[in-house]
Amino acid sequence: MKVYFLGTGTSQGIPVIGSQHSVCLSSDSRDKRLRVSVWIEVDETSIVIDCGPDFRQQMLTSKCQHIDGLLFTHEHSDHTAGLDDIRPFYFKQGDIKIFAHRRVLVNLEKRFDYIFETENKYPGAPSVTPNEVVENVSFLVNDITVEPINALHGNLQIFGYKIQDFVYLTDVKTIDATEIEKIKNCKVLVINCLREEPHATHFNLEEVLHFISLVQPDKAYLTHISHLFGFHEEIQQKLPKGVYIAYDNLEILI
Ligand SMILES: [Zn+2]
Repeated sequence: MKVYFLGTGTSQGIPVIGSQHSVCLSSDSRDKRLRVSVWIEVDETSIVIDCGPDFRQQMLTSKCQHIDGLLFTHEHSDHTAGLDDIRPFYFKQGDIKIFAHRRVLVNLEKRFDYIFETENKYPGAPSVTPNEVVENVSFLVNDITVEPINALHGNLQIFGYKIQDFVYLTDVKTIDATEIEKIKNCKVLVINCLREEPHATHFNLEEVLHFISLVQPDKAYLTHISHLFGFHEEIQQKLPKGVYIAYDNLEILI
């Protein structure tokens, strides 16, 4: 399995538009973070999780050739706003299979009504096949099993996904012990860590390190990073063994 980090930034990305913050001005390429997303290739199956406003650029840089399943964690714009840019995949492959909670599908249908339109559809508009993700029910993308992991982003329900020994969770603030049980001892855990200061709807560093100590993965990678967390190089030095800060275009093999 190959995991490619398409984006590792929080909702505004890094640099933040117009910001004079030292991290936003950093010349280290690892301090440039697009909106959070990941691409997983297992055998011949290609899965992308979330599709934010940087989707087009991410697909060009990663050279992703096809998408068998586009999975959504939740409906926030930094995770969904790029949906129109599935057009080149749609022209090549036909309807793109999307997977999300029913609430997220309803939200996307409202915001991208022309994509879900069935009558008098504009010829250039893409089409999707919606698949509802249900708590505790695994589903298939081609022949690859995906297990949804339930969590909360403030008051908002969100899904993370477990694929074989890989677990991807972003925008988590709280998660039940029953869900932690499902991902214990995985090989690679990707988990959101906004910054050191507490935040109402995202894990901070202290919370994330506690969570990692419960899950006990072989390796953990932090994502959904704010510029307020600091420089990549400096954050990495503060992290315990086996915990890494992810960066855009990082590729790992599992
Ligand atoms: Zn987010």
